[in-house]
This record gives sequence, C-alpha cells and structure tokens, in this order.
Amino acid sequence: MGQITLHQVRKSFGEVDVIPGVDLEIKDGEFVVFVGPSGCGKSTLLRLIAGLEDTTSGTISIDGKDATALPPAKRGLAMVFQSYALYPHMSVKKNIGFPLKMAGMDPAEAETRIQRAASVLNLTNYLDRKPGQLSGGQRQRVAIGRAIVREPAAFLFDEPLSNLDAALRVGMRQEISELHQSLKTTMVYVTHDQVEAMTMADKIVVLNAGRIEQVGSPLDLYHSPKNLFVAGFIGSPK
Ligand code: ADP
Ligand code: MG
Repeated sequence: MGQITLHQVRKSFGEVDVIPGVDLEIKDGEFVVFVGPSGCGKSTLLRLIAGLEDTTSGTISIDGKDATALPPAKRGLAMVFQSYALYPHMSVKKNIGFPLKMAGMDPAEAETRIQRAASVLNLTNYLDRKPGQLSGGQRQRVAIGRAIVREPAAFLFDEPLSNLDAALRVGMRQEISELHQSLKTTMVYVTHDQVEAMTMADKIVVLNAGRIEQVGSPLDLYHSPKNLFVAGFIGSPK
C-alpha cells in the first residue's frame, strides 16, 4: 500500500508545458518531499497524483494499478489542506468525521476512527470545540485528522505549514515527522522551504521549471548535488 509510480507524466495548461514529462517512483512508507522555487510545478505535480488535475499524457499508478483516469475519491489518497479549509460551524469531531459521513460509513466504525485519530493527534480533549476556539497548530492537526480517518494509502501535503508562524512551524514539522513514524504511511509533502525538506524527507525531489533536477536523500543532495541549481537550492557549494 502507498506505492506511487509516475511514468512520463506531462501537464500543459493551454500552450504552456508546466510539467514536460516526469518519471518518479515513490515507495511504500516513504516520506517524499517535492521542493523547488515558487511556480516550478510542485502543486501541479501533487494535484496530478491526487487526481485533482488530469494528466495531458503519461500514466500514474498506485499500488501497481493504473490510476491515471480514476477520480480523486477512488485513488485511496488523502490530500491535507491548510487549516483554514475547516468548517467553522462544525465541532472538531464533526470536522474530522466529515469524510466518513460523506462516504456513508457506519457511525460506530466512524466513531472508532475519529477517537483513534484524535488520540494520535492529541485532540481528544478538544473534540467538542469549534475551529475558532483552537490554536493554529491545533487547527492544523484537525485538518490532518480529517485525512487520517480515511486510512489512506498515502497522505499528500501541499505546504501545510505556510500559514503558521515560525515557532509553530518547527513544532508541527516535528509532529508530522512523528506521525509518519507511527503510521508508517507514505507521505508526499510539498514545500519551497529547504530546511523543511532537509529535516523531514527520506527522499527529496528537486524540481525546476517542471523538471526533476535530482532525486536523493537529504545527505545525497547536500554532499553530491548534481548541478549548480541543486547546489544553490539545497546543497553545499559545488
Ligand atoms: P508551485 O506549487 O511550485 O509554486 P504550481 O504547480 O502552482 O507551482 O504552478 C506551476 C506553473 O503552472 C505556474 O507557472 C502556474 O502559473 C501554472 N499553473 C498552475 N495551475 C494553472 C492553471 N490551472 N492554469 C494555468 N496555469 C497554471
Ligand atoms: Mg504550490
């Protein structure tokens, strides 16, 4: 579960080739970070994996099955949106349980999953609150809880911490890493922040103008950047 393969994935918007053609292998349980400057195509690549954008050509397979034409809900992945995407009028519990309710899950099974997610995220005592009564970090945890309850094959994060202040960001970074260690579920995490990439990733994918410049562990990229772009962005001077 949680293995994602991109084969010659291309995306153009009108005349513009935003992703000219990407090959990538994401292994089960890996924490993969897409990093690169603003506008390089990180969100587009993540949205292609999620199924929120259609590929212009190429294939995406998930756990060995062709998922290229599957709608988002059938891919078994969960996209974590920023905390402001919570429903302000619903309790934390209802926010976390919302996707299960939409899926028509049996309420007892839904309750079990909500309690389990709340426990992992230290939200057990906050289930009756509304998002407005929570801190920024707690709100972000609720957004993650809403993904956890679906028990996805992989979590997809698009700059989930960019709304938080610097101190909170460091703490949440740590929490997401710990969550990965306890769930052992594949995570694909988009950021333009080199420090985030270096501290969180098993594998970093460096993107530049829709192309992969280099894929490797943080140490690989730091010590053996393939070119000046990677060196300038992440590595020691080449
Ligand atoms: P990043 O997340 O790395 O900042 P994006 O994936 O959001 O980059 O965008 C990559 C490029 O694709 C940008 O030039 C952006 O303007 C363009 N783009 C993204 N979405 C669309 C869209 N729906 N229509 C047209 N152009 C888009
Ligand atoms: Mg983006």
